[in-house]
Amino acid sequence: MIKNISILGSTGSIGTQSLEVIEGLGNIKVWALSANTRIDLLEQQIRKFKPVVAAVMDEEKAQDLKYRIRDTGTRVVAGQEGLVEAATLPQIDMVLTSVVGIAGLVPTLEAIRAKKNIALANKETLVTAGEMIIKEAKEKGVNIIPVDSEHSAIFQCLQQKGAACAVKKLIITASGGPFLGKKINELENVTPEQALRHPKWNMGSKISIDSATLMNKGLEVIEAKWLFDVDIEKIQVLIHPQSIIHSMVEFVDHSILAQLGVPDMKIPIQYALTYPERMPSNSESLDFIKNNTLSFIEPDMDTFICLRLAYEAAVQGGTMPVVLNAANEVAVQLFLERKIRFVQIAEIIEEVMGRHDTLLSPSLEDILYSDSWARETVLNELSGT
Ligand code: MG
Repeated sequence: MIKNISILGSTGSIGTQSLEVIEGLGNIKVWALSANTRIDLLEQQIRKFKPVVAAVMDEEKAQDLKYRIRDTGTRVVAGQEGLVEAATLPQIDMVLTSVVGIAGLVPTLEAIRAKKNIALANKETLVTAGEMIIKEAKEKGVNIIPVDSEHSAIFQCLQQKGAACAVKKLIITASGGPFLGKKINELENVTPEQALRHPKWNMGSKISIDSATLMNKGLEVIEAKWLFDVDIEKIQVLIHPQSIIHSMVEFVDHSILAQLGVPDMKIPIQYALTYPERMPSNSESLDFIKNNTLSFIEPDMDTFICLRLAYEAAVQGGTMPVVLNAANEVAVQLFLERKIRFVQIAEIIEEVMGRHDTLLSPSLEDILYSDSWARETVLNELSGT
């Protein structure tokens, strides 16, 4: 079990829950914490966990924090360089990456190069650079342990001997989000407030919108392809509104293993931290009598176009998922700012993908270039603002 950790993105939803888990476990030392801009919360975390380093993405906020915590022993670092420093401290054996967005990519890559195990909670890392990340991790002998509930479920189902070679199909479950059962014409006028109201999971705003469009599931399909080295046509998405089965693996003998539990992110977070062991948890135990109905529905890809687009991007490979992800990130932001309508998120992504010439086996530069190209295309040509 790991003993020394850095947490990138400690003030977000996964970051704060990770710190609760770490407190509960009681034997892990936190060496670094990081935030984008929320330095009030970061300051509280610093006073409690006493990390050696605190990284702040925003340079001005970093200065502010430095002044505020001058009575502590924590050193403040800033920007991407700061994140990389937090991710590569010599004392740590694991980095939990719960930064939102492509900002998580370079620090994760550098952590792998420094032979740190990764508890992966940043989607963009594998969506945009899966090929490169998995190759580097193999070369460096680094474990990438998924934190996301679906990937954690699959990872857990694959722990028995020989399992990875006998996979027939991965079945990724999805709650369906707040608009499950709606048709596309019913989604014309939905507001950010409606889209943010997720029925099962308590999450940050970007991922909540991604759950409403099913892009979140699409990104998870792409991640699963890299994480478990499975062809995209062997990855199925299944709507399971109760969110009790967190995902499943069907094997070649048609036996299916599933991982179940209450929808509580602290369970997969803790498994990533204690892997390969299991430790007692403060999370609730699943009551089958209270949860006596588990149902399953095929996803409606004519309404939830983002899921179809994610499959298409995965099939094309190369830089196409980078473009999908970047266009989505910008479109979601525009929707949250009420500058575009909900249904335009998918329209914009499809348009940008149509304009992109895929580059196969991209370098880090190609990835970052495609990312900014897609963002600029949305903002300058497609946002209508
Ligand atoms: Mg998930």
